[in-house]
Amino acid sequence: MKNLSGKRIVVTGGAGFIGSHLCERLLGDGHEVLCVDNFYTGRRQNIAHMVSNPYFEVLRHDICFPLYVECDEIYNLACPASPVHYQFDPVQTTKVSVHGAINMLGLAKRVKAKILQASTSEVYGDPKVHPQTEDYWGNVNPIGLRSCYDEGKRCAETLFFDYFRQHRLRIKVARIFNTYGPRMHPNDGRVVSNFIMQALRGEEITVYGDGSQTRSFCYVDDLVDGLVRLMDSPDDFTGPVNLGNPVEFTILQLAELVIKMVASCLMPHASRSKVVFKPLPSDDPTQRQPDITLAKKKLGWDPTVQLEKGLVKTIEYFSSLT
Ligand code: NAD
Ligand code: UDP
Repeated sequence: MKNLSGKRIVVTGGAGFIGSHLCERLLGDGHEVLCVDNFYTGRRQNIAHMVSNPYFEVLRHDICFPLYVECDEIYNLACPASPVHYQFDPVQTTKVSVHGAINMLGLAKRVKAKILQASTSEVYGDPKVHPQTEDYWGNVNPIGLRSCYDEGKRCAETLFFDYFRQHRLRIKVARIFNTYGPRMHPNDGRVVSNFIMQALRGEEITVYGDGSQTRSFCYVDDLVDGLVRLMDSPDDFTGPVNLGNPVEFTILQLAELVIKMVASCLMPHASRSKVVFKPLPSDDPTQRQPDITLAKKKLGWDPTVQLEKGLVKTIEYFSSLT
């Protein structure tokens, strides 16, 4: 039977961590979803439970090449997101950010689709304004190890706004802050996945630097809800808009919390885990916290999942893998 009420929605990067949750949400809302992914960091098991759904389709495709499909909306999430993954092949990271954005904007222009870009808090670099508001232009090193990602995403934002001004495209730009939850890649080197995997294995918890740098962690369900609200917002609201949980933690606090929580889940090796300090990677931002006033006002969005609650679900997921 044809789905008459839903939209045809493309999710690039749909087999990744956030993308797979987004596909699930959109199918649940009654839409047809085309997941476009080259499986660079995404995994088939992230989407395996959706493939029997007649409204879900998977296309193995690299968005650095043009894509010819018909659709009403595009969520552009394709890009490696963890520092370990995006620094593995930095030239490819810039290519997917820039060429990928051009191709998806070209698709949106041809089929007159609305398009949302998964941008990042990294556009603020090592911020001198705290908490970060959308009108802050950032403090980004253009030639460092993180630049392929930071500058790639900044250029993608530029392209989105030029297509908006030049071609009157309907665009949405979300600046996503650190997000965590089930289906993160266990080897992506991000802090939440690293700490949980280390604690589950009874290994040392590797805190980079002295652990005083801060991050604010958003649970994936909250983030996905923000993305959908942004896509559904009136056409005159383009963003950029910060999406993240504003509760800020030091990395040392996170390490201690993960050790405590994994131990309380009665993992046999957890109590053996101790914090060890390792060198801080270059250009590692010292503090990061979103100001979400705009998202609250324009989208009625406010994250609801507290870190402890989200960590329980994430620990359960990772323990099912080990
Ligand atoms: P992820 O690595 O799990 O997902 C990215 C997906 O894109 C993967 O499935 C990967 O295979 C796919 N991909 C990569 N290059 C591609 C290409 N050339 N063509 C097609 N597919 C390609 O990462 P994630 O955490 O789910 O992040 C999703 C998006 O959100 C990214 O754009 C990322 O920059 C952005 N973001 C994420 C966070 C976070 O904390 N997770 C924070 C800020 C921004
Ligand atoms: N970090 C850490 N130990 C790890 C992994 C990361 O102390 O095993 C730190 C990292 O240096 C950074 C913060 O945790 O200060 C967040 O790192 P992540 O790679 O998750 O994302 P970022 O926000 O830096 O892109």
